[in-house]
Amino acid sequence: MGSEPFVKSFVDVIVLSPVKSTVPGAAAQTFTYHVPDELEGCLDVGALVVVPFGSRRLYGVVVGLSDESPVSETRPVESLADDEPVLTPTQVALARWMSREYLAPLWRCLALMLPPGVTGRTDVQVELTREAEAGDARTEAQEQLITVLGAKGALRGGQLNRLLPRKQWQRAADQLARRGVVVKSSFLTKPRVRPRQVRTVEWVASDVDVDEALDGLRSACYPAIVEFLRAEGGPVDVAWAYAEAGCQRYHLDKLAERGLVAFDTEETWRDPLADETFVPDSPPPLTSDQQTVWDEIQSQISNLKSPIFLLHGITGSGKTEIYLRAVAEVLAQGKRAIVLVPEISLTPQTVHRFGARFGQRVAVFHSALTEGQRYDVWRQIRAGLKDIVVGPRSALFVPLPRLGLVVLDEEHDASYKQEAPPPRYHARDAAVELARLAGAPVILGSATPSLVSYVRARRGEWTLLEMERRVMGHARRIADLQARYNLPRTRFIPVHEDAAEARYIELPPVQVVDLRAELRAGNRSIFSRALQGAMDEALRRGEQVILFLNRRGTATFVLCRDCGHVIHCPRCEMPLTYHGPRARLVCHHCDYRQPQPERCPRCGGDRIRYFGLGTERVEREVHRRWPEARTLRWDRDTARNHAAHAAILHLFSTGLAHVLVGTQMIAKGLDLPLVTVVGVISADTALNLPDFRAGERTFQLLAQVAGRAGRGLLGGRVILQTYHPDHYAVVAAADHDYAAFAARELAFRREQGYPPYRRLVKLVYEDASPSRAQAEAEALAEILRSALTRRGLPATDLIGPAPAFFARLRDRYRWQLLLRHAEPAEFLRAVQIPAGWRVDVDPVGVL
Ligand code: ADP
Ligand code: ZN
Repeated sequence: MGSEPFVKSFVDVIVLSPVKSTVPGAAAQTFTYHVPDELEGCLDVGALVVVPFGSRRLYGVVVGLSDESPVSETRPVESLADDEPVLTPTQVALARWMSREYLAPLWRCLALMLPPGVTGRTDVQVELTREAEAGDARTEAQEQLITVLGAKGALRGGQLNRLLPRKQWQRAADQLARRGVVVKSSFLTKPRVRPRQVRTVEWVASDVDVDEALDGLRSACYPAIVEFLRAEGGPVDVAWAYAEAGCQRYHLDKLAERGLVAFDTEETWRDPLADETFVPDSPPPLTSDQQTVWDEIQSQISNLKSPIFLLHGITGSGKTEIYLRAVAEVLAQGKRAIVLVPEISLTPQTVHRFGARFGQRVAVFHSALTEGQRYDVWRQIRAGLKDIVVGPRSALFVPLPRLGLVVLDEEHDASYKQEAPPPRYHARDAAVELARLAGAPVILGSATPSLVSYVRARRGEWTLLEMERRVMGHARRIADLQARYNLPRTRFIPVHEDAAEARYIELPPVQVVDLRAELRAGNRSIFSRALQGAMDEALRRGEQVILFLNRRGTATFVLCRDCGHVIHCPRCEMPLTYHGPRARLVCHHCDYRQPQPERCPRCGGDRIRYFGLGTERVEREVHRRWPEARTLRWDRDTARNHAAHAAILHLFSTGLAHVLVGTQMIAKGLDLPLVTVVGVISADTALNLPDFRAGERTFQLLAQVAGRAGRGLLGGRVILQTYHPDHYAVVAAADHDYAAFAARELAFRREQGYPPYRRLVKLVYEDASPSRAQAEAEALAEILRSALTRRGLPATDLIGPAPAFFARLRDRYRWQLLLRHAEPAEFLRAVQIPAGWRVDVDPVGVL
């Protein structure tokens, strides 16, 4: 090709704001601008630009280049906001796919892929054009606005919001602007994040007599500074100098005055892993199960094939080792990898294992990082300085060059689905599409694969790989653990240090306890006799216990014995949960709180009783029955942030606590070798929900929780308490029998026309007025039904309209429709869905 790069003079831009007619389903709103001379040759696909838009200026992303414009008049791009493209062309293509597939505005899909704070906001400024006159204000709102502007001068939107209600001043400003009383101008605020500069100091005097140079400077810190800086022999962060020499800014300034030191600035990366120390490890010899799986994956990757593997391996079967090998393989090809985990704060172990193998080549990316850290990690990734990105679903959207592999661990996990805001994507499907666009393979791993994935793999669309035995580890690890935990007794005695081959262990036996039988036997405690016995024994031996209950709080509903009144959230149609420690009633939907009432709000009676069971109550009962056991509770009330998760996990994994009580958080990916008893207080929390996935959820949770027991040298067992001992999900989980569960569940799904056999869309409408919500729902149902009929599809493919299971949340009434269709996005794009509907394609729950 020619040497002159062909300069395109027009760009297609998606502005990163809601602009008119950006309705779900409508064609993407691209706008054409021309490239001004000074930006010629600088604008690529993925560039972040500022463009004029009406009277405003907005941020936008270049999504296409052309040498012709579809419109005759174009305005110029105003500026380039970042020298490097903020998105790769592959990401732009992925955003387009997400926009189509999830009926979400394209700009939202693009914005999802930018770290927060890289764009400023559009803001307005309002000021009076002249001294206000009588008669300028025709409404009270206008009067107020004029008074405020008269007193304070020009004000920005954010400032006005603090003084007057937003809708009110905006309307008044528009009216007054039309009559020339005020001017409104639009401007962009500065991006919140920016590269961080640190101030450095350096010793620059080579040939001086130090004593002489320091003459008259009395503080003892001067010689210390000099010694430190000369030893460093180059610029150091001033903070280091302060710390090392016990000095202050003042002292360094004095030395600078005498020409002994010089200041400079340097850019640094804010690195979330800076304080982590990774103990390097090397790949262990694989077990025979791992070897079989690895042979298949390796041959595909080394032949540059890019299939989708579903790695079905029971908990502890060594899936992570497979991920590590696969990552190493693509790195050797000069490519890079993304590794997704359900929730980063629950899986610090994953980061550690990747760090141990790959060191500084690993980046973590998630929303618990500060904005500055996220920005820096994102820029390091974009610059190709990191080869492996580990994180939750948002880590899928980093601008990683040369993507060679995507791994999704615990692929069944519901947290891979984004519920709000749009796009309501599923990270598994987005990962598969991203990998397709990049020509990269995907590994989806789980002990309990989602039925959707399982069916695709069994049909041969994806490659099913299975590992059915649990790895204990090789002799070395067993010996290490034995020494570390000071265990005289293990199930593996005698351990031969020289046995290189890893050993397998059995999955823990699961005992199902029928709670009805407990009641009949007169046991009213929340602990069955079997669980009590197991806990007595474990605690006596200094072993650890996990108690699982997927519900927070002390009592899950509060009822008046006299009139039967159940206390509800005033804003949601939900019973309030009683939280003991502060004697409060809390709404688990909107976080509404009120003090515990002394009397029934309806009849004034004082016989208020608490029913239902939550983790708080479980913890209290443990204290009561085993007062000397140290207990930790791990749920959203005790662990609201990253640090709290880490602290709880640390206390428990180092053996400082004996009993861990928790919600589903404890089911995720923990490897705790001293846990010998896992008690499921109630297996039934999800079982009775009117959701077609109730069985799948229950099975997954129970199987994962059961997987926490018996991972160490001491063996272990699981006690599963239930009122439904014969339910197939409970029985299959107790037998560790995924295949039996899947067979039974799939038969039900097929019969009912549910996923994976049909796809679903959930459409929800919320309104403050119940009748308006209903009318909206009925109107859309009518439209959808006739669209189905036109295409010769049965009207039964539309379920509803009906009030949603959560019929009122935060004072809004909710109606819902469920649509079954093979290609739901395509079908719905043809139907104009009125504004205000929340469209969820492939919802993870229908409640
Ligand atoms: P999974 O991800 O399937 O739950 P892990 O990869 O966490 O399983 O493996 C469980 C345990 O077995 C871990 O402690 C891991 O270090 C160990 N392990 C896995 N593979 C091997 C191997 N080939 N040799 C020795 N130990 C292994
Ligand atoms: Zn509420």
